[in-house]
Amino acid sequence: MAEPLLLSTWHFGQIANRAGWPHLLAPDGSALDAVEQACRAVEEDPRVTSVGYRGLPDLKGQVSLDAAIMLSPNRCGAVAYVRRFVEVISIARRVMEQTPHVLLVGEGAEIFAQSQGFRPRSPRADERTAELALCEHHGAEDREAIHARDPRHPHVKDGETSPEAHSGLAADGGRDADSSHDTIGVIARDCRGTLAAGCSTSGLAGKMPGRVGDSPIVGHGLYVDPGVGAAVATGHGELMMAICGSFLAVEGMRRGLSPQEAIAEVLRRIAECIPDRGDRQAAFIALDKAGKWAAGAMRPGFQVAVRTPAGEQLVIPDLVFSDGSD
Ligand code: ASP
Repeated sequence: MAEPLLLSTWHFGQIANRAGWPHLLAPDGSALDAVEQACRAVEEDPRVTSVGYRGLPDLKGQVSLDAAIMLSPNRCGAVAYVRRFVEVISIARRVMEQTPHVLLVGEGAEIFAQSQGFRPRSPRADERTAELALCEHHGAEDREAIHARDPRHPHVKDGETSPEAHSGLAADGGRDADSSHDTIGVIARDCRGTLAAGCSTSGLAGKMPGRVGDSPIVGHGLYVDPGVGAAVATGHGELMMAICGSFLAVEGMRRGLSPQEAIAEVLRRIAECIPDRGDRQAAFIALDKAGKWAAGAMRPGFQVAVRTPAGEQLVIPDLVFSDGSD
């Protein structure tokens, strides 16, 4: 019997872990169910403004969602640029289970979702998030001012703690400091030792309409090889897409690197290939077949929610490529 494990990106990974964990323990549960339900809980949570129902809008103010789920190179499914459905991780699973394809996009993905009985429901950014998304895109200086006016970002004086901090979840679901992105990425290992991974996102705030990032692309946003391990990415998708980030991490583990060494190699490769990356974030979680895991990021700010039989922890990884001072 393997020890079950659930790893989820960012602070809102705690929401994911709470929903996914029971599926790892249920006698008929599985890593795949755990990943699906973990991502789905975040998609439905209105406090999370970069995934699912309250996702970040594009330049035209519209939200489009991407998701992927994977068990092995031969068993994966994904959808991208979905604008009329929220539970994209479950639609991705249906692509994997019910079609001979890997990726459906746009209208085709929506027609498929409807044929599978999913209820059309458009994700919708709230007004403040839409305003912030445009600011992120244009680098507007008044981002702080918008935050200050936003009741979801209560002003907290030095030394005070916000009510959301007490509740264990920030009002925006606990996102990266630059607030222009964040994917829920999940890796699970069940009692049988089966690995599964999934990710779901609205992509970058203020993206060009039609832009799709790494998350729904096998090898970029996620990769699972049952004989080796799994990896999931979050951050600016264009960085991961330049180097097939998740695939590279799993290939590192195949060559005998530990999950931490594999992630470090991927971050180094991003740095080498994209010297003009600025302060864009790229972060990874990785798990090997034996159950050893690691997380790492280009910049400070990344967190991973870790659930084991011993309990839940929110971990700030030691592996940070740059301390943000460059
Ligand atoms: N990787 C996602 C994208 O670029 C966003 C994120 O994870 O923050 O679409």
